[in-house]
Amino acid sequence: MRILISGAAGFLGSHLSDRLIADGHIVVGLDNFVTGSPENIAHLMGNNQFEFYRHDVSNYIFVPGKVDAVMHFASPASPNPQSPYAYFNLPIQTMKAGALGTHNMLGVAKANNARFLLASTSEIYGDPLVHPQTEDYAGNVDITGPRAVYDEAKRFAESLTLAYHRQHGVNSAIVRIFNTYGPRMDLEDGRALPNLLKQALLGQPLTIYGDGQQTRSFCYVSDLVDGIVRLLYSQEHMPVNIGNPVEMSLLEFAQIINRATGNSAGVTYVADARSSRDPQRRRPDITRAQTILDWQPKINVEEGLQRTIPYFKQKLGLA
Ligand code: NAD
Ligand code: UDP
Repeated sequence: MRILISGAAGFLGSHLSDRLIADGHIVVGLDNFVTGSPENIAHLMGNNQFEFYRHDVSNYIFVPGKVDAVMHFASPASPNPQSPYAYFNLPIQTMKAGALGTHNMLGVAKANNARFLLASTSEIYGDPLVHPQTEDYAGNVDITGPRAVYDEAKRFAESLTLAYHRQHGVNSAIVRIFNTYGPRMDLEDGRALPNLLKQALLGQPLTIYGDGQQTRSFCYVSDLVDGIVRLLYSQEHMPVNIGNPVEMSLLEFAQIINRATGNSAGVTYVADARSSRDPQRRRPDITRAQTILDWQPKINVEEGLQRTIPYFKQKLGLA
């Protein structure tokens, strides 16, 4: 297949490109580098299975030649307002990437009669009142809250994707991605893993927002990419959660990171810089992914950290 991927220079988009090229496909990458980096795809430049266009997906997209699949991953993705790359600080761009960007990418899929896959998020469940989150849960999202620009853009993107499926017969898929980590995450983007792993490798106490009892479940990137690729190859149209169902508190996660890095500086509790709207519990119910895609994650958090640490050490000049 010839596969168009927006956000190809980002953390997930670059790993997805690597995997699809390894599977024998041709990848056409689009990115405007607002939060991604040319470094993430430098190793693909010159590869005859990779083409790249610098482009903002919120503007009309022209792709020369036929494409067989279209994957929309372009969007700012970090909630931490201390980071210049966070969606808090790029609110209009974030809503445009989710709304206009999804519309444009769906247009490319429709014109090419291509499979379309939308990167949605666990954030569409907001601060969930149902736990673990199943795909039929409609969510608890604050429409005007600080996360709304991201959450509502993704919710709109899902609705628009299904509208194209129902009205135009676009062969669409929607993946709801839960917290994922691995090499090529931006060390400065303010998400939990980059913040905490960087602090640990520098021998600093790890900053825990709030009391650290809020939970997440962290998925290693190769597991996530495998689930997404299985969804791409399937005929499924309705949303599928992909994430690791092993739930832990942020305090437990920080302690695991300190053990993995031999950091003895412990943790420090700080006020949540983001808002009082931090989702308190998050864990995917992955029954649909197991049933439809025969998928479940294989890499536990200790192993995932060992695979991630060398990248962080190199970026910090410690390797
Ligand atoms: P990222 O910031 O590393 O990658 C996003 C990429 O999209 C960047 O390269 C950025 O430059 C590009 N981009 C943003 N707006 C653009 C635009 N208007 N035009 C062209 N390119 C644009 O983030 P990521 O973690 O790789 O996230 C990728 C996708 O997965 C996003 O849609 C995000 O919402 C979704 N997601 C990620 C996670 C996660 O844990 N990493 C969780 C849920 C959902
Ligand atoms: N977090 C933290 N310390 C940090 C960064 C994040 O305790 O330095 C917490 C944050 O409050 C949240 C969790 O880690 O509960 C995950 O945050 P992230 O920004 O990775 O994404 P989210 O899951 O909130 O979208």
